[in-house]
Amino acid sequence: ELSEASYKSNPPAKPVLSGPNTGVLDVFYTYNVCATEPDGEDVYYFVDWGDGTDSGWLGPYSQGTPVAVLKSWSATGTYIIQAKAKDIHGVTSEWSDPISMVIINDVPPNTPTIKGKARGVVGTPYPYTFTTVDVNADDVYYYIDWGDGAVEEWVGPYDSGEGVGITHQWDTKGTYKIRAKAKDIYNI
Ligand code: CA
Repeated sequence: ELSEASYKSNPPAKPVLSGPNTGVLDVFYTYNVCATEPDGEDVYYFVDWGDGTDSGWLGPYSQGTPVAVLKSWSATGTYIIQAKAKDIHGVTSEWSDPISMVIINDVPPNTPTIKGKARGVVGTPYPYTFTTVDVNADDVYYYIDWGDGAVEEWVGPYDSGEGVGITHQWDTKGTYKIRAKAKDIYNI
């Protein structure tokens, strides 16, 4: 006879943890955790954030369904994130593979420099080179305003320090001010 005490529940499978591995201070990032449960039971998740804090046990959730958990960090460093699951009987899985999250103190890219001709002829394309440096060596995007109503909206990503060549032509005689700004991959 099978008694309650002798019932042996299978543990959930090792959870799959996914989410970013680089970020900046005080921004919330989404991690997804998901485990299947061989008995089809609901599962709870526990995430160790690597900074001495954890999510506590979250759930119950249907097994095999990704669950999103948010986290921010308020100090720079490298944080090892891991998740585990348990079933409704409290039988726990093994830990997920870790994610190593690097939190940096992000600094925006420098104001871009613009190189190219200051005088030209109507209807002729001219090349301009835009360059900026990001002190964190993050990839960068450029927003370019050609002064005639035309813009390049956040073209990129480009390596920090890499000159980006873009041509433009003006179709009406006049004086135009070309302006450029840059942002990095953290939108800063
Ligand atoms: Ca940066």
